[in-house]
Amino acid sequence: MDDVDLRHLRRCVELASEALEAGDEPFGSVLAAADGTALAEDRNRVALGDRTRHPEFELARWAVANMTPGERAAATVFTSGEHCPMCAAAHGWVGLGRIVYASSSEQLAAWLAELGVPAPPVRTLPIQEVVPGAVVEGPVPGLDDQVRDLHRRLHGTS
Ligand SMILES: [Zn+2]
Repeated sequence: MDDVDLRHLRRCVELASEALEAGDEPFGSVLAAADGTALAEDRNRVALGDRTRHPEFELARWAVANMTPGERAAATVFTSGEHCPMCAAAHGWVGLGRIVYASSSEQLAAWLAELGVPAPPVRTLPIQEVVPGAVVEGPVPGLDDQVRDLHRRLHGTS
């Protein structure tokens, strides 16, 4: 993990914060090319009722529409929180490359349990359980705390 990686991850946390301020759940993601250039970004957009509007899923679709298979394989997806199984599957199906996340699904599950939030309808799994060949890095100490604080704000405890 280098300075470029950290810059993209900080942007993901910023996008997660923007999502929260817009009344959505705090998740944000950035898709970067092999040379580190940010190509696309998005945040959670589930507040209007479509629970599949996760940023990693949107970026997988964007990648298919705008990148060659080779470009996708060399790209990196940065994200504030580890992909859910749906997004991990989309990532695997479209052949995207490395994933770097600020906080893990395991951390999120623990935080939500601590906050008394009911379990989601989709099981929490590590990305490699869904995409065995995925190259994954995270969580990142310091940034994971910021993501935890966003989830605490969402659930009204800070
Ligand atoms: Zn997802």
